[in-house]
Amino acid sequence: MISNDLSPEAHCPRCGYDLRGEIDRWTEQCPLSGICSECGLDLNWIELLSRDGKPIPGFVEEARGRRRIFTAAWKTWLWTFRPRSFWSRVRLERNPSPGRLGDWLLIVIVSLHLAPPLMLLALILLQSLTRGSSSFGLGEVVAAATWPVEYDPYSGGLSGAGLEGTRWSTGIWVAGLATLLFPLVLFALPWTRLRSKVRDAHVTRAAVYSLAWLVPLLLARILHVAAMVIASSFSGRRMGSWRAVARTANNAADLIHECFDAWYLWAPLACAWLFLWWWRALQTGFRMKDARRVYLAMAVPALLGIAIGISRSQLFGHLLVVMRF
Ligand SMILES: [Zn+2]
Repeated sequence: MISNDLSPEAHCPRCGYDLRGEIDRWTEQCPLSGICSECGLDLNWIELLSRDGKPIPGFVEEARGRRRIFTAAWKTWLWTFRPRSFWSRVRLERNPSPGRLGDWLLIVIVSLHLAPPLMLLALILLQSLTRGSSSFGLGEVVAAATWPVEYDPYSGGLSGAGLEGTRWSTGIWVAGLATLLFPLVLFALPWTRLRSKVRDAHVTRAAVYSLAWLVPLLLARILHVAAMVIASSFSGRRMGSWRAVARTANNAADLIHECFDAWYLWAPLACAWLFLWWWRALQTGFRMKDARRVYLAMAVPALLGIAIGISRSQLFGHLLVVMRF
């Protein structure tokens, strides 16, 4: 018999329901499995009660030590490529760690985001020290820092260009709205919350890692700025070989910019991944019995968001013109 003060602290990993009452009812024998009376989650008591579970190697939320956290942040990002294996590894029983989620955001998203403005700033400082003037101004640094909202250094303000005019920001609108709407619906709609009874921490975890699709874009931005920096550093040189380097860098910068512009190639990939990510989060991650219904409730607003994003694009405008004639 298990006495009361010996019964370990146990909560349902999905809804947080206190399971001690359930454990207190065990008198003759300990069952191996059970069901949470609150949300209906299938419980594996051994898994739930063994607190000495080994940390998942390479998982940022369970890594210890600065260097390990850094490498684990990138490993965890790589796992997101395969949502199914991510969620079968990062099970509900693994308590989300808000601090480590913050670390992941800092290491993977924020640092990549801040790299381009810092590179430009370093170039401006270096060029004004050596040449007395620089080919870039602070406006460009601000523009790089406020991405994806585009700041136009020449009209002196937050121009509408970033939000409406330029083609490649359409992709950010499309994938960005889908990224926001999936978790918002799960958080906001009371009936989905009531039905699914998933703890906020788990939804937050899924929402934070769902930013993973941004990383290739952020890396491409770094390459873009690096190419521009190289081009501008070598453009004034007289030596032919340096000029060739400048030209190659310029071409590379143009090519990356064209890839950004082709949002209709990368935004659908990002969206497809988001749809797969949230399906796997509900089904494999949260082990929801009504995963399909909840997924539908999330997918419809996300599709609407994508439609709104596309409707802002020039492509859509062209399509309307073509359809009219
Ligand atoms: Zn539960």
